[in-house]
Formats: sequence, C-alpha cells, structure tokens
Amino acid sequence: MTAPTFPSEPAYLLRNATVARTLLAQPQSYPGDGETVRLDIAVDRGRIAQITPAGTGAGGPQVDLDGGMVWPCFTDIHTHLDKGHIWPRSPNPNGRHASALTAVAADRTAHWSTADVAARMRFGLRCAYAHGTRAVRTHIDSTSEQGEISWPVLAAMRAEWEGRVALQGVSLIAIAAFRDEDGGMRLADFVARHGGILGAATTIEPDLDVLLDRVFALAQARDLDIDFHVDETNDPQSRSLAHIALVAIKRRFSGQVVVGHCCSLALQPATEADRTMDLVAEAGLAVVSLPMCNLYLMDRAGGRTPRWRGVTLLHELAARGIRTMAASDNCRDPFYAYGDHDALEVFTQAVRIAHLDHPVGEWARLVTVTPAAVMGIESQVAEGSPVDLVLFRARNYSELLSRSQHDRTVLRGGMPIDTTTPDYRELDPVLGAHP
Ligand SMILES: [Zn+2]
Repeated sequence: MTAPTFPSEPAYLLRNATVARTLLAQPQSYPGDGETVRLDIAVDRGRIAQITPAGTGAGGPQVDLDGGMVWPCFTDIHTHLDKGHIWPRSPNPNGRHASALTAVAADRTAHWSTADVAARMRFGLRCAYAHGTRAVRTHIDSTSEQGEISWPVLAAMRAEWEGRVALQGVSLIAIAAFRDEDGGMRLADFVARHGGILGAATTIEPDLDVLLDRVFALAQARDLDIDFHVDETNDPQSRSLAHIALVAIKRRFSGQVVVGHCCSLALQPATEADRTMDLVAEAGLAVVSLPMCNLYLMDRAGGRTPRWRGVTLLHELAARGIRTMAASDNCRDPFYAYGDHDALEVFTQAVRIAHLDHPVGEWARLVTVTPAAVMGIESQVAEGSPVDLVLFRARNYSELLSRSQHDRTVLRGGMPIDTTTPDYRELDPVLGAHP
C-alpha cells in the first residue's frame, strides 16, 4: 500500500471519501440513509471549500481516496501527560490502582523537575499529533510544590504546540484537599491564573457535599470549568457522581462540568444507577470513559481472572441524551502500562469493550465531535472548516476497527504531516536508560 500523493497546489479535490454521517455538520444534505456516506471534498487554501456527493466534485488536481474513511482530527479530553512514560523507571509491581498511586507519588517526588516533565509531555504530544490528534486536555498533579513546576511546563508546551495541538490543563488533587479553605482558594486562584480548569479526584468523605460545594463555589467565582475524577473503583458504595450532580443542580452551575471514569456506577443496583443518571442528565454533566485504563485497573486482584470490564454505563447515559466521550487517560505509567496517545486505538477499544457497534452510529463522536465541543473547538466535517482530517485506507468500520491503521494520512491545514511516532530511545536519557 502506498500513501496517497498530495499536490502542492493550494486547491485540490479529495475524491471518493467515506465519512460517517454523524461527523458531518449537515448530514441531511447528502443522499442515502447508511451510517456513512461517499463524498468528494474540495480543498482550498487549507479549508474545506465544498462537500458534494462522490463523483460530482470538480476542479484542480485530484486525490482518489478509493472509498477510504475520512475523520476529523481527534480530541483527547482526558490524559495525564505529566505522568506519561515513567513506566521504565517506575513500573507498577502488581497493576493495581493503590500501587499505582504509591509508585507515581514516589516517582514524582524523586524526578519531576521542569526538564523531566517537559521531556515526557513533549514525547506524549508528538505521539498524539502523529496519530492525528489536534486537541488534548491533561490533568496535572497539583499539590502546591508540583503544581509550581508542572503548570509552567504546560504553559510552555501550549506555546510550543500552538497551531498543532490545542492544550488544556486541569488541576488534579484529592477532594479532601479542599477541606483546607485557604489552600483551596490558593489552588483555584493558581488555576485561574494559568487559564486552567478546576478539578479533583472524588472519594467518599463524610463531608463530601461541603467539599464539592466549595469546589463549585470557587469555580463559579472565577468563571472556571470543572473536571472531576469520579468513582474510579470497584466499590459500588462509591457514589460521588450523584453528589456532584446534585451540587451542580443546586448551584445552577453554568460552566462545563466533565466527570471522568464513573466506574462504580456500572456495579450499582439498576434503580440506583437510573436515579443517578437522571440527575447527571438534569445537571448537564458530560461523561468521559477511559476504557483502556479502566479495563486494566478495575477488578484486578492478582492471580484472579477479572469478571467485569471496568467501564461506565455508556449506552444508558447516551440514551438519556448525556454527552459521552472516550479518552486515553494514562500512558505507559503505573496506572496503565501501555498506550500510545492514539485516539483511534481508544475508539477501537471502546467499541470492543462496551459494544458500541452494529451500528457504530453516533459513537464516532466519542473521540471527535463531543469532546471537541466540550473543549470549545468546532470539529465536524463542514464547508469552511480547516482541513484537519485523518485519512484511512479502511473503507468501512469492519476494516477500520480490525487493523491498527498505523498507515493513516493526517492532513493539517490541507497538508500531510509526518506521522512518524517518536522513538522510545529518545526517552532513555530522561528515564535513566532503562531499556
Ligand atoms: Zn485520569
């Protein structure tokens, strides 16, 4: 297989592209009723000039995609670039969540200087960009000392990657840290100064409602959005999701609230889960599932075969009109030993783990349109939008989801980029050369 050759002219035609209807801004404009449609896409100076049914586009040099699928570039809305790739120097001894927390804390204390965090973040961003991602939200471990190091690195990365990968940061800290009112205020001010999003990892605490209300109040006063790690546990008694929804409703919070993980929801009695999901819908929360990381971490007990898949109730949430998304989460660190910042891999795994197929339908939005909208980015394939597209040889979901698609072409501003991923050897100096 050879990658298509692209003309150097600013205007050209992408012929015979297969596009999922749910990724088009105006799907009703094109004939047929299948979940995908065959189109010609006219490009002019980096923007989509016209989208017409296949065989009707005209003008300029032509690139025949021969039915290959075209997706908008990906948005990865939940990552941990500050933790990424530390596995070679700080592996997780048994793959469990508690061990991951311990291993990361020790690695952070020993190694997370400006240079160390920057080198690993840059490596992660290079992977993401090469795979066709154009927007990334990362959580940042934000205890005061580490926050002072990592947030300026994020600011430097945002400048370095401007025009290639849009970057957002979220503070990550235990919800219990907000018990210290002054500390909470300092953190919220710090996050606001850095143009970030206020976040925390919730655990069941006796004063959880007070703590959550404090986070919402701090965010409201500074016009910040919120992004929580929620109920990432096998314990069905972990019910902070309902508490978050109730506080958001009570406060009439108007910013974006993203809730990540929500694993224990899947283990609660149906009546309780239904009640919680109704509250999530009423509160307008957006839910992000981390299917690869949670398949890895949940229900792990050494020598025992896991009995469940670790993912939240995506079908039931979506059926209520709740915005659902999927993202990478951790990458080659103690929380997840694998991963390559490839949103297509996230999507493929999400489809397999959570049965998001037959039809795939609107699930194609999980790593594209929905997270982009939450991040304030227009992502649908539309006339007038930038030609930030991922081109696959796969012509349909069967072909797309069966192979890795590492031979994809990524267009940014209408031009193909170098899709070579960085070599792991480049991290050897940072990680102390642990092959
Ligand atoms: Zn996470």
